[in-house]
Amino acid sequence: SKLNVALIFGGKSGEHEVSLSSTASIYKHIDKNKYNVFTIGITKDGRWMYYEGSEENIKNGQWENLANKNVEINLIPVGNREVGIKFEDGRFEKIDVLFPVLHGPYGEDGKIQGLFEISQIPYVGCGVLASSVGMDKLVCKKVFSQMGLPQVNYTYTTKIVFNNNTEEELNKIERELDYPVFVKPANLGSSVGISKATNRKELLNGINEALKFDSRIVLEQGVDAREIEVSVLGNEEVKASIAGEIKPAKDFYDYEDKYINGASTYEIPAKISDADMENIRKMAVDAFKGIDGKGLSRVDFFIDRKSGEIFINEINTLPGFTNISMYPKMWEVTGLEYSNLIDKLIELAIDSKK
Ligand code: ADP
Ligand code: MG
Ligand code: MG
Repeated sequence: SKLNVALIFGGKSGEHEVSLSSTASIYKHIDKNKYNVFTIGITKDGRWMYYEGSEENIKNGQWENLANKNVEINLIPVGNREVGIKFEDGRFEKIDVLFPVLHGPYGEDGKIQGLFEISQIPYVGCGVLASSVGMDKLVCKKVFSQMGLPQVNYTYTTKIVFNNNTEEELNKIERELDYPVFVKPANLGSSVGISKATNRKELLNGINEALKFDSRIVLEQGVDAREIEVSVLGNEEVKASIAGEIKPAKDFYDYEDKYINGASTYEIPAKISDADMENIRKMAVDAFKGIDGKGLSRVDFFIDRKSGEIFINEINTLPGFTNISMYPKMWEVTGLEYSNLIDKLIELAIDSKK
């Protein structure tokens, strides 16, 4: 019999739109002979709504106006009430697997995974710990550094400290790092709020901009580097895909380049030495295991153009799944086709509950 899979999409995050694209793509590729697919959207202000309809309306945001607000989505086991989806006509569907197709805060950072744990329904991807560590660029750096994974130099500041001691903080950053400096909100993705500062004025503006998204800011040594990514899949037995290279069209791989004009190009496999390929794939698995990863992640690296040094940049526990996203593409080249990848993710979700 078919499994009931609920795709959870949208969400209260700067990456809401990315999630809509990822969901449309998963919805298109998921094998409907194997699964009954239910689509549950979360608005930008955090309201959950059942939407049954087209891929296109998910992608363009129309789902919100077309959603059926009377369908009950019960995820918390309360009294005699069953956990699942209850329709207006009384039909009830239990959910076999929850599939969060969410990126960024509230979806990728462990918060929703905590809710899923309480629901006792198996879910795709990382648990609470890996999700929250992976999402927090500052904590994640500390974990990676403790594991001995190579990273660029970095420092950080916080809203209160920065606003109260702006000059001192700017001096501290300039002492610790050389320009260009990358300014990043600690808890976000898709390049939202990220900027590259080449002087003190840009640094100040960049920090103020990043502070709109988070009260903790990471500052990183900018490197002139190739960007290499690896897809990781598994629970106990973890596999890494062939690595790919992203070639940003602009100065750096920003939001627009990732999702709007898609002007960047990519190359899978990345044209790197066998030794680098092996090393990067191994580090990707180590990083994933190091944060207690489950299901999937995409691990991103830099290779310094001059020194050839490899740095781990970040781990994304719910990477993009759009039709131009690297995660499914790298698996495809490695020999795992998109819909089989979805099967595998669902299987891993069920296995991790056993
Ligand atoms: P996100 O989680 O939003 O993807 P990243 O840390 O990956 O954030 O940064 C986004 C992009 O910014 C990277 O893909 C890269 O192009 C550029 N970038 C980030 N940090 C650095 C750095 N230290 N040196 C050079 N480029 C960087
Ligand atoms: Mg990221
Ligand atoms: Mg990134």
